[in-house]
Amino acid sequence: MVSKIPNDIFQFSTASALMQGLAHSGPSAGQLPGYGTHGIGTFSRMNGELLFLDGKPWQMLRSGKVQPASPQASLPFVQVTNFQPEHQVCVSGLKKAELVNVFEENGPGKGGKNSFVPFVVKGRFKSLQLRIAGPQEHEGQDLAEVAAKARKWGLQDVKGTMFGIASPEWMQGVSVAGVHCHFMTEVEQGKDAEGGHVLDFETADDAVLQWAVTGRYHLGFPRDDEWENLDLKADTAGLSKAEG
Ligand SMILES: [Zn+2]
Repeated sequence: MVSKIPNDIFQFSTASALMQGLAHSGPSAGQLPGYGTHGIGTFSRMNGELLFLDGKPWQMLRSGKVQPASPQASLPFVQVTNFQPEHQVCVSGLKKAELVNVFEENGPGKGGKNSFVPFVVKGRFKSLQLRIAGPQEHEGQDLAEVAAKARKWGLQDVKGTMFGIASPEWMQGVSVAGVHCHFMTEVEQGKDAEGGHVLDFETADDAVLQWAVTGRYHLGFPRDDEWENLDLKADTAGLSKAEG
């Protein structure tokens, strides 16, 4: 059953906890459809990137493999929403850094500085810079180190779908302030999909941006000694470097 209130965000754990390396367990990928339709997150030991699209969870691995996530796969950090777009525009030549401006340009109450904005960009992309982090080399390895060793590569002229969440600055550390999104190419018969965490992108002429403004934000916490022993003050510079 999908959450009844559209565009609420359900999140487990915090970006700061991930920065500190807490990444062993969380809700399972099989539970995601109970909370929404779209989401992003990471797997146990930060083994690849999660993209939850139209009710289907995908695991994008460092090897380049994109596979349906096992229903048992554990998600130590995840954000999910029952995505029902409220606004839609065609975007041509849109870059990651300009995305939040589009929300603001569309008028008051359409998102921007102080709201969470879940969004989808679908269509053709001129270019994308992607990365796949992990897995952690040892338990507790922090995200800054894992992200520094991530596999990074570029794609040109591809068709696919991106889902992400723009989070306000005041939520840094709980979420990732700014735009955080994951992408995968269209699943075509006989062709392997590609995807990852998006470092940068530029859309081509026929891409569509859809978004909504979140009204409620639900946060779940790990409950164990490890969580209690973390230093959860936001490391703003570290986080923008690791998740930018
Ligand atoms: Zn990511």
